[in-house]
Amino acid sequence: MRSRLDDLRNCVSCPRRCRVDRSSGEMGVCRIGVDVPVAYAGLHFGEEPPISGHRGSGTIFFAGCNLRCVYCQNHQISQDFDRQRSDRFPRYTVDDLAGLMLDLQEQGAHNINLVSPSHVVPQAAAAIEAARKRGLTLPVVYNSGGYDSLDALRSIRGLVDVYLPDLKYMDRDLAGRLSAASDYPEAASSAIREMFDQVGELETDGEGVARRGLIVRHLVLPGQLDNSRRCLEFLVGISPSVHLSLMSQYTPQHRARRMDGIDRPLSADEYEEITDFALDLGFENLFIQKLTSQDDYLPDFGRETPFLFRASS
Ligand code: SF4
Repeated sequence: MRSRLDDLRNCVSCPRRCRVDRSSGEMGVCRIGVDVPVAYAGLHFGEEPPISGHRGSGTIFFAGCNLRCVYCQNHQISQDFDRQRSDRFPRYTVDDLAGLMLDLQEQGAHNINLVSPSHVVPQAAAAIEAARKRGLTLPVVYNSGGYDSLDALRSIRGLVDVYLPDLKYMDRDLAGRLSAASDYPEAASSAIREMFDQVGELETDGEGVARRGLIVRHLVLPGQLDNSRRCLEFLVGISPSVHLSLMSQYTPQHRARRMDGIDRPLSADEYEEITDFALDLGFENLFIQKLTSQDDYLPDFGRETPFLFRASS
């Protein structure tokens, strides 16, 4: 019988379509083979309220990424990881990953939150299936940068309950310059349409915790408000009731510290201009951040607990 991991033999799991044989040690852009390095797994309270709830989201942060964002706040695990090489993070087989999901369920997580899964879809899908057979009942959240392949998403229809993608760019030049992915606008817009088709609008339980549906994140970049407007115009065309999380937390990280135009934090005026634009467009479900929270959102994967967030009482 064909295994999901067979897809790694000629990998087109994401829009990069590298066509390398990851099962024989070849590496594509993401630099990840068959066993999956996990940078952090644990309860996380810094996601949107329907994801974190009051008990925390059961996050699994995969190391590596299929994007190369110059400002990535997780660059320690998404890109530097590649330079620092291999045994920095433990590698998980499909069975190990399933066990990790069940551990998070035992810890009381509201959901299993797969963070940056776009380059490990076959492994994550096989792990969800194995965990379901072993008693996993929690909703599964697919928390991606939005650079997802349609085929990969179609292959996980029914396995994912909540999609939580970014929509970073609707500007090809910007996507090429800042994330080395000039096809990002087409890829992400197709991906988000597919996600919405699979799970629809957000449904929550009696405590306001997500059971199913779509939440889209957009990080407002300094000096790039036209790009933000185009992203929001695309999204409102899907539905004004799509849940949109407008993120203000941009601060120059990683290579962005040396790049003109994005080497400064987002200003309060810029963020307000985009939140006003979203309201004028008619978005009915907006998550808005305080600008003072910029530093709170910066993880440090050198610490045992990378996040500053704690459960609210
Ligand atoms: S997941 Fe994407 S980046 Fe990684 S090898 Fe496959 S096609 Fe390439």
